[in-house]
Amino acid sequence: MCAKKPRLRFTNQRAIILEELKKVTSHPTAYEVFKLVRKRLPQIALGTVYRNLEFLSQNGVITLLEGKKGFRRFDGNPSPHYHIRCINCGRVDDIPAPLKPDIEESAKIPCGYKVLGHQIEFTGICPKCQEI
Ligand SMILES: [Zn+2]
Ligand SMILES: [Zn+2]
Repeated sequence: MCAKKPRLRFTNQRAIILEELKKVTSHPTAYEVFKLVRKRLPQIALGTVYRNLEFLSQNGVITLLEGKKGFRRFDGNPSPHYHIRCINCGRVDDIPAPLKPDIEESAKIPCGYKVLGHQIEFTGICPKCQEI
């Protein structure tokens, strides 16, 4: 009985974390997800949110965006799409550019890797930062 309860709660927490992440398109950091989830689960720990985000990204349910200095953001949309990152505030938005699967073909030839995917990130200055 004791062994079952925490497991069930863990699953429930993960479902809520995923739900909250899917609600936003802002590509939040783990801390930002934590703040969203805390409204529904006031007792949740940041470490729990972090571990669940890791689990979900390792299983391809969400996308992990690795930034500079290990600064990570999470995307509730697991399908391939491109991003643009503001060099000033770090904000990340989706880019509706057409996907380029042929890029993976051209990567295969020189490097000898088995190519599994690719990510493209544009950099720029977001509209808000341009106003300043
Ligand atoms: Zn900005
Ligand atoms: Zn995205």
